[in-house]
Amino acid sequence: MMDLNLPPLLWLVACQMVLHALMWGLSGVLLRESRTAVAHWGLFMLLLGTGLALAGARDEPRLWWTYNGANLVTLLGFVIMRRGTEQFMRVPASDKEQLAVLLPVAVVVGLAGPGEQWAALRIALVYAAQGFVVLRTVMTVRPALLQEFGRGAMLAIVVPASGIATILFTLGLRQALNWRLPMEMQHNDGANLWLMVLYLTGSAMFSFGFMVMLTQRLVSTLRQASVRDPLTGLFNRRAMTEALERQWLRHRRTQAPLAVLAIDIDHFKRINDTLGHAAGDSVLIHLSTLLQNHVRGEDVVGRVGGEEFLLLLPDTQAPQAIALADRLRVLVRAESLGTTISVGIALAHSVDDSAESLIARADAALYRAKDAGRNRIEVAD
Ligand code: GH3
Ligand code: MG
Ligand code: MG
Repeated sequence: MMDLNLPPLLWLVACQMVLHALMWGLSGVLLRESRTAVAHWGLFMLLLGTGLALAGARDEPRLWWTYNGANLVTLLGFVIMRRGTEQFMRVPASDKEQLAVLLPVAVVVGLAGPGEQWAALRIALVYAAQGFVVLRTVMTVRPALLQEFGRGAMLAIVVPASGIATILFTLGLRQALNWRLPMEMQHNDGANLWLMVLYLTGSAMFSFGFMVMLTQRLVSTLRQASVRDPLTGLFNRRAMTEALERQWLRHRRTQAPLAVLAIDIDHFKRINDTLGHAAGDSVLIHLSTLLQNHVRGEDVVGRVGGEEFLLLLPDTQAPQAIALADRLRVLVRAESLGTTISVGIALAHSVDDSAESLIARADAALYRAKDAGRNRIEVAD
């Protein structure tokens, strides 16, 4: 192990980084999701690969590009990684902080020259700067990670990333404490071998972890879209059918009361015709907020048609259902929405042989309310 020649290993790891970059590039093209972040991550991997390849090309005479250039390219990669990650997690960009802290480092590293004389300073600074970027990235995105992906996923990212930051700081400190012995990457000093292992595992974890989050975000977006009505955010017809089926089975099993309210806005067409479609939309949004604010946590509210809403009220007897329906009716009339509602109420009953028949009875009651002049409630037999 110890007489292993490092430069070929550097090239190999560089190839792996480029492979990651290609994968991110392909994902950006195919997925069309979070493309800016994906582009940043691809560039991160590409710059890491370039830095490693430059380090692998180190030779006599010592050229600026292969020493200082490699350092700067790698550091730029980390900066871009942080930027992309902040973009992905939708937290404010830390560009100013990055510029303020890293520009002086970059200037010193760039001016230090490729010689052995300032190599230790260069190396210590670059490791410390990389550790700083990783640590600050973790700090700025941690709350957003927790909120969107939960504790498990947050820890799965934060713990290894903090470990990587610690290793980078340790490498910087080791170099600072061994001022006379530049620990350049191409030298085989054991630690550099482990550094290559760190590069391989770190980048694999990074790419895999963020790919999982990208997928998780896509799935939850699609799941939301499939059960929610985009205008009001209420459950859509499909979600209501499923919820009703669940409530119905529960009612059958426990004989607990179950009430259904079918609500329809009166003469809604007139609002659209006189005030315009946008005004109609805002009435729908307003009404959906009102409905949500006046039901209990276990009740389910959905928009099942253009201006038709459905309320599922478990453990609710006729008097409470009627009281709620009438409260809603009075509120809508009082809210100066320029409209009123009619409500049909049905209580799950031995005549119902299915959830559909319960809904059909609520609808029939609603039509009676309409026929009887609107702005009223009717209870199904
Ligand atoms: P009724 O009192 O008998 O219920 O009369 P109505 O005008 O409310 O009933 P009708 O079913 O004739 O008209 C419903 C209208 O709702 C027609 C349609 O243009 C409108 N509508 C449906 N979906 C939307 C929507 O998403 N936004 C808006 N602004 N209007 C919608
Ligand atoms: Mg209507
Ligand atoms: Mg209608």
